[in-house]
Amino acid sequence: MDLQHTVDPREPAPADVPFFTQAESFSALWPQIERHLSEMFEDGKFSHGAKVAELERALAAYTGARHVIGVNSGTDALVLLLRAAGLRPGDEVVVPAFSFVASASSVVLAGGRPVFADIDPVTYALDPASVERVLTPRCRFLMPVHLFCQLADVDRLGELAGRHGLTVVEDSAEAIGMRREGVHAGLFGAGGVLSFFPTKTLGAIGDAGAVLTDDDEIARTVDALRHHGRFGRTIADFTTINTSSSLPGCNSKMDDVQASVLLAKLTRLDADIARREALADAYSRRLAGTPGILRLPTVVARGGTADPVFYVYLIEAERRDELAGHLAAHGVRTETYYPSPLHLQPCFAELGHRQGDFPAAEAACARTLALPLYPDLATDAVDRVCDLVQDFFSGAGARP
Ligand SMILES: *Cc1c(COP(=O)(O)O)cnc(C)c1O
Repeated sequence: MDLQHTVDPREPAPADVPFFTQAESFSALWPQIERHLSEMFEDGKFSHGAKVAELERALAAYTGARHVIGVNSGTDALVLLLRAAGLRPGDEVVVPAFSFVASASSVVLAGGRPVFADIDPVTYALDPASVERVLTPRCRFLMPVHLFCQLADVDRLGELAGRHGLTVVEDSAEAIGMRREGVHAGLFGAGGVLSFFPTKTLGAIGDAGAVLTDDDEIARTVDALRHHGRFGRTIADFTTINTSSSLPGCNSKMDDVQASVLLAKLTRLDADIARREALADAYSRRLAGTPGILRLPTVVARGGTADPVFYVYLIEAERRDELAGHLAAHGVRTETYYPSPLHLQPCFAELGHRQGDFPAAEAACARTLALPLYPDLATDAVDRVCDLVQDFFSGAGARP
């Protein structure tokens, strides 16, 4: 269907393509969600209760992690993981210059200092060669971030961390379902995190997150930190609110409403991941060779088995902002992950970085555009988005 050239005024306008929606998924899942919620109401604990414990067990089974600790958000998970993994005030943590801001702000919140490194232009994850260049004697942690569809180069980064005595803490907030040789994201070092922000591959109906770790001591400390520094699962039992604390912790308990929704959604996660992959393939087939497109998502083969997961379908394009405007004018919403590199954000100004310090991160910020990708997206919507992208670059859709 060529929408640009043969618009019949009697035809209804095509429906808008939102950047993200899950209305259909939720109506299909509602009976399951309702069952979990009614069990929650019977139990009567709405924070850090039985549904949270059930979700933690289900996620441990899904990821293979020895411990999954449910918290309030992916950001809190990072802060608590860094603290539990032994970050001391002033310790430095190597973080990619291209990521969501929480990768680096969590380091500051935990009392450390981010040290930025550049990214690999294909995977958008930490470039080991750049890490070697930025290391200082105060670096004690390395934080690979797994973005968009694949893991960072965990083999090389793990080897590098071992050589320099760095503890690996993964920002695997986007990486549910991503595995290498059967090992799930977050389990290549001391631990990792998951975010259940609504748009994530496994999304709640509000904020929630989790820490994943195989380390018993880290798990015990995160468990205490999320609940005012109290060891043991004293939880939502109102008679234990005033028991004594061993650590200065915080309130980062997970809500059982979120756990109920996530338990229902987890039963469909593998089907959702397969649907995302099919849609990503459809985009890639249609967009391959389109002039003006500088890069399509490329899953890097590293030998051995790897499970990529398409959380975001990210292209790099010439005139990225104009392209986004053209799509928006035709009802297609896109997002920019991430418009500004971390080393140039005002909150990290004291680190003294300048434009040009991390060229691959800066180029990614200038060129990347995320197209709609979610299980409810119809395959003909992908065709429509691709028609609009191709019209834009062929000149047919240029400037109204
Ligand atoms: C979503 C995300 C986070 C933060 O998770 P929240 O649950 O929103 O706090 C951190 N890092 C990355 C890479 C993310 O995508």
